[in-house]
Amino acid sequence: MTGSETPPIPAGTRLHLRSEDWYHPTGVGDTYQRDIVVSVAHTGTATATDASVWIVGHELDCTRAHVEDHPPCVELRVKRDAIRRACQAGPQP
Ligand SMILES: [Zn+2]
Repeated sequence: MTGSETPPIPAGTRLHLRSEDWYHPTGVGDTYQRDIVVSVAHTGTATATDASVWIVGHELDCTRAHVEDHPPCVELRVKRDAIRRACQAGPQP
């Protein structure tokens, strides 16, 4: 695992995810389109696969993202294809 397949995702990166771009292993909830702000992207860890990685972060409208003891409200598997696409699009203003 070199991590070279997927660019690193800095904290604060905004990801626009289509319903097919992400899932949760427990299958809780329906998949739908959503925008999140990345806190931690586990692209280089043992939990990352060729297909997807754990992304931890916050909903765009989360008002407590900067409160230190507020746990991230989003934790899901995001497909590497979606990460590449989002990174190519560049950071949002
Ligand atoms: Zn939050």
